[in-house]
Amino acid sequence: MTQLALVIDLNVCVGCHACVTSCKEWNTSGWAGPMTDQRAYDEDPTGTFFNRVQTYEAGVFPHTETYHFPKSCLHCEDPPCVPVCPTGASYKREDNGVVLVDYDKCIGCKYCSWACPYGAREMDEKQRVMKKCTLCIDRITDMTLPESQRKPACVLACPTSARLFGDAHDPNSVVSIAIREEGGYALQPEWGTKPANHYLPRRKTRIQIHEDELVRADNPLKKEQLPSLPEGGETLDDVAW
Ligand code: SF4
Ligand code: SF4
Ligand code: SF4
Repeated sequence: MTQLALVIDLNVCVGCHACVTSCKEWNTSGWAGPMTDQRAYDEDPTGTFFNRVQTYEAGVFPHTETYHFPKSCLHCEDPPCVPVCPTGASYKREDNGVVLVDYDKCIGCKYCSWACPYGAREMDEKQRVMKKCTLCIDRITDMTLPESQRKPACVLACPTSARLFGDAHDPNSVVSIAIREEGGYALQPEWGTKPANHYLPRRKTRIQIHEDELVRADNPLKKEQLPSLPEGGETLDDVAW
């Protein structure tokens, strides 16, 4: 069986939120929408998102690092959110493994959100139905689109190509190769949910900087139209502009 999945490279995610906004844009007008915002411009704005980027600072000051962590439904292979649903609204597609919610059957009981260990489901308080990432199911299955466009909106929008999309069961897919060759890992495997989505870890690259590389290539004093520092002058204040 095909198992569609995202692989997110934490090494190159810059936390720009393009995936968040493109997700909202596509899905608000699509099959899954609208994803309502409540009090968008008030003090306590809330709303429904399929994809959020959480940013953390880790380490002990001043040796800290900033991590950007995009989070959405992981399309688990053994999703606890499905059997717990009393109406059959939550289901996993047999042809491609995407986990979805049938809004016509959802009664908003929230059992699925309690069952999901990843906090991936969000109640749409306006429509009173449960929502979550669909991997842009209406887009990836639209055969009228060229193949290059049959990808989730977030994957197409990401400026750093941090988001890969493909069949995790195909050993030759871009996602399987990345998981295999770059140490891809699943979140909280101890839960036994077998998340299809994986993350690529941050890699530490120690860069050797040589002394001559510390000279700024864009030093403005190198430009012909600018005066040089006077002989013996120590600061730019000495320069007669
Ligand atoms: S991440 Fe949560 S909502 Fe998504 S399939 Fe897994 S258990 Fe269900
Ligand atoms: S909130 Fe909707 S999808 Fe979730 S368990 Fe209840 S009926 Fe099923
Ligand atoms: S669009 Fe890409 S780089 Fe930007 S926050 Fe999302 S995953 Fe990270």
